[in-house]
Amino acid sequence: MEFSLIDRIRERTAQARDDVHLGIGDDAALVAVPSGQELAVAIDTLVEGVHFPLGTLASDVGWKSLAVNLSDLAAMSATPAWALLAMTLPKGDSDFIDGFATGFAQLAQPYRLALVGGDTTRGPLTISVAVHGFVPHGKALTRAGAKPGDVIFVTGTLGDAAAGLQLLQGQRNNDARAHFLVERLNRPTPRVAAGLALRGHATACIDVSDGLLADLGHLCKASGVGAEVDASLLPRSSALLDLFDDTTSRDFALSGGDDYELCFTVSSQHTATVQADLARLGCGATKIGRIVEGGDIGVRGADGNALEQHHRGWDHFTS
Ligand code: ADP
Ligand code: MG
Repeated sequence: MEFSLIDRIRERTAQARDDVHLGIGDDAALVAVPSGQELAVAIDTLVEGVHFPLGTLASDVGWKSLAVNLSDLAAMSATPAWALLAMTLPKGDSDFIDGFATGFAQLAQPYRLALVGGDTTRGPLTISVAVHGFVPHGKALTRAGAKPGDVIFVTGTLGDAAAGLQLLQGQRNNDARAHFLVERLNRPTPRVAAGLALRGHATACIDVSDGLLADLGHLCKASGVGAEVDASLLPRSSALLDLFDDTTSRDFALSGGDDYELCFTVSSQHTATVQADLARLGCGATKIGRIVEGGDIGVRGADGNALEQHHRGWDHFTS
């Protein structure tokens, strides 16, 4: 369809790669997978008003639409390579396209990720990005593989994005802490380098998109194990702790969505290496609990007693 719009995207996201034999402009892209590598492929859709608030900056939508996908590659320990972009737009809005492409490119560029094609249609604002990454044969991290006794870690801090969303919906608070939390919602940092560093060390890994308890639940189910989480260990940012009371910030950390941190398990003899590696990468890794037998996820509060769980993360079909 409208080539000027596609050209605007192509210009802003241009990235030369030897493994892209034919990029945007033909009926399909032609790409080459390096020998010995498996292709890790993922797709995620963002719908305005559902996955990002109305009024989100176009550049933030561009960043986030790629970030949520790179987070999936990170969780598999894959190196990002290519992306496809399907955009549904209410109108041919070149300002939106330019902003979108700029935000997308800001995140794509450091990974040398090439946008190799896509589709552009008219309708309610909806963005789908598909990403492709490389991982050596048999080396991908998956949700399966956690064993009783493994230590559970998360990267970064939890609950910031949920707090940012609440700040956007309520009274505007324009200080630096509120800005930090809203940025964590709008411009999540995919933990790609952390995911690569975990290869060979983590026994299982998932990215936290729907809330820690929901996503740890997926990991446990795939691994056929249960978990004990110590809520007093959950890593929370100082901005979150400053602007919200202890119970609220703890609930955001346990159940808030959109963090895009990694939750992973490590056998006890590898924990020191992993913590040192991730500290060096800047995001750090915090121990939050242990894998146990069975299938339940128990959460203990600071007093050591079990917390009652009222909500287990964001579920698009039940909430
Ligand atoms: P076709 O009808 O053959 O699919 P299109 O007009 O949809 O062709 O697309 C023309 C070219 O532009 C294709 O190479 C396609 O991959 C690319 N393209 C279309 N929309 C986008 C987009 N939003 N982002 C990146 N590439 C796009
Ligand atoms: Mg097409």
